[in-house]
Amino acid sequence: NRDRIMQSERLNVVSELAASVSHEIRNPLTVTSGFLQLLNRSKTLTQEEKEYVELSLQELRRAEKIVSDYLSFAKPQSENMVYSNMNAELEYTKNIIMPYASIHEVEVKFTFNNSLNKHYDRNQIQQCFINLYKNGIEAMKEKGGGTLFIDVSERKQNILIRIQDTGIGMTREEISRLGKPYYSTKEEGTGLGMLMVYSTINKVKGSIEVDSEKGKGTTFLIIIPT
Ligand code: ADP
Ligand code: MG
Repeated sequence: NRDRIMQSERLNVVSELAASVSHEIRNPLTVTSGFLQLLNRSKTLTQEEKEYVELSLQELRRAEKIVSDYLSFAKPQSENMVYSNMNAELEYTKNIIMPYASIHEVEVKFTFNNSLNKHYDRNQIQQCFINLYKNGIEAMKEKGGGTLFIDVSERKQNILIRIQDTGIGMTREEISRLGKPYYSTKEEGTGLGMLMVYSTINKVKGSIEVDSEKGKGTTFLIIIPT
């Protein structure tokens, strides 16, 4: 028992550390890519030098993506804990991804019908939904668009969150790899989004069911006991 307590304290320290790191790392990333972009406009750079600058910018974008898939909502305060029905987080994150959806011709349909409350970390839950919405949109982007359905309801004492897309879908084999660190089929993917999703849902003692058909689309059903 004591071991377990120690381990969970350690996990808290790690996530608080991660949170401040993400915050501290954003600024230097932004400043550095700004200067590199300026440098890239110089007329005296050789072709080879330009390639180095391009590569550096590309790597900085990758670092930025890792921060935004994994740590963007993390804040080093425990005041993030709330007791609520998740409606505010679902609405907020839906609004955040709307521009991303519309540039990829994705329509978002949102229905909410839940009155059950739950204790959870607001920032982690937000990050988790963002990662799922982003994946849905990215799966439809390759098909030229589609519809993202977000449906929240309750059954007995469980909150049910269904996130459904009409994207490229996954094979059974691909589904089994979800949540493995660095597993990504995307050219510029981090493979950290689903890892974050699984660990967050695990923390609220929830479960995730994945139903997918190649070429047709994917449904994530998240069941959170209250
Ligand atoms: P990333 O998005 O950076 O690739 P993720 O951990 O978010 O990393 O997702 C891992 C992989 O799982 C993706 O590269 C993709 O192949 C697959 N995936 C996740 N969600 C979906 C989805 N809704 N539809 C199809 N494939 C998906
Ligand atoms: Mg992702």
